Amino acid sequence: MSLNGGCACGAVRYTLTAAPMIVHACHCRNCQRLSGSAFVINLWIERKFVETSGAEPVAHRAAAGGSGKPHDVFHCPNCGTALWSKYHAAPGDTVLLRGGTLDDPGAVTPDVHIFTRSKVPWLELPEGARSFDAFYKIGEVWPPASLERWQRVVAGGD
Ligand SMILES: [Zn+2]
Ligand SMILES: [Zn+2]
Repeated sequence: MSLNGGCACGAVRYTLTAAPMIVHACHCRNCQRLSGSAFVINLWIERKFVETSGAEPVAHRAAAGGSGKPHDVFHCPNCGTALWSKYHAAPGDTVLLRGGTLDDPGAVTPDVHIFTRSKVPWLELPEGARSFDAFYKIGEVWPPASLERWQRVVAGGD
């Protein structure tokens, strides 16, 4: 699997060297504000599988979300495109990469819709889409292979 993407001006480019552990469509108010849109597509992946080239993204601290812990949004230093977030509430060296920055955003489909309690009312989720009012228990939702990766990255090893 190789997914490529980058910012709007092209200064930051990235390649994902593994598939995401899971893909969220997040309808929380924080994601709506930060993106200026109805929801954000987040590819949750180990940081080491995001290979970047070009300009080094810069972090801005965003307000704490539902977890009460802050998160850092990494932007292109040139055009300001938000590329991924590091959530301090989540253990392990992982990022949530914005699916809209992929060269082909249609290459991934959300596995779960989360925080649908603040979903905009005009948006209807696809029939049968897995959705949660807020967050969910990882152990009950993720496929076994992703859970194994999660346990490795939380342990801090390889
Ligand atoms: Zn840029
Ligand atoms: Zn969110």
